[in-house]
Amino acid sequence: MAILIDGKAAAERLRAEIRAATSDLTPRLGRPPGLAAVLVGDNAASRVYVRNKVRACEECGILSRKIELPASASQQELEQLVDSLNEDNAVDGVLVQLPLPPHLNEQAILRRISPAKDVDGFHPLNAGKLLLGEDCFEPCTPAGVMVLMDRYGIEIKGRHAVVLGRSNIVGKPMAMMLLRRSATVTICHSATNNLPGVVRLGDIVVAAVGRARLVQGDWLKPGAAVIDVGINRLPDGALCGDVDFDSAKEIAGAITPVPGGVGPMTIAMLLSNTLKSARLRGGQ
Ligand code: NDP
Repeated sequence: MAILIDGKAAAERLRAEIRAATSDLTPRLGRPPGLAAVLVGDNAASRVYVRNKVRACEECGILSRKIELPASASQQELEQLVDSLNEDNAVDGVLVQLPLPPHLNEQAILRRISPAKDVDGFHPLNAGKLLLGEDCFEPCTPAGVMVLMDRYGIEIKGRHAVVLGRSNIVGKPMAMMLLRRSATVTICHSATNNLPGVVRLGDIVVAAVGRARLVQGDWLKPGAAVIDVGINRLPDGALCGDVDFDSAKEIAGAITPVPGGVGPMTIAMLLSNTLKSARLRGGQ
């Protein structure tokens, strides 16, 4: 029976550390760290995500500003808003909640955010630095996975990590972070042949595909560390991951649940990146 990796508890501890660091930094900066979250349109899930981010900021002494634009906002309006936040000295982090309404050019907006305030780590400059192994703002979800694995003492160096998914926000940066820590990394995607056979090579398996319960227990190497990034809504409204938890927990050595695994770490890493930006911008 696998060890349960409790992301909720780990994220709570991380938030407490961030709160302490923020209260130390605020008097030295003469202001609290600041995060601006831009929400365009009326996507219900995006609204919940932004609300949770704003709430988490408040809890940790980070000043958050939520800026809402209507779904009809033009590219130019949004770009002007991003420009003004880039120039605002009280703002350390700028995030534009995705997805944007289809008439807006998402990549152009992400490129418009100052790389020094890119706390989501989606700007090409930060993505490039990650690839080159330089210090940068790392995308929050894979960064949270790394922290979670470290806190649970999961060894990375020399082990075979299988990453399912190659998105720019999870799969690719996840693979880079594991490689930087000297794992042997395999990246799988929708054209991978014999997926169960490849997953079975993994001492570490990170699933980020968005397919409910795709990864079965009998796909796993006994004792593998299984990190489930997926968040899928079942027809009955319940949430589940990309891993079939019930069968996987019998074979894995350690496993994250959904919910309560990777999800809570993502927001904590956003706060951590905002704190990092405030320190760097304030010369601390
Ligand atoms: P994307 O849809 O952008 O990417 C999914 C990836 O999975 C693609 O690379 C795709 O391959 C691959 N894939 C899809 N189906 C299969 C399959 N049957 N076999 C193998 N590979 C497959 O998703 P994201 O990376 O944005 O998100 C992945 C999951 O993680 C989602 O459930 C999302 O909700 C969740 N998520 C959770 C977060 C958290 O905080 N916990 C944060 C972000 C995401 P191809 O490239 O070939 O199409």
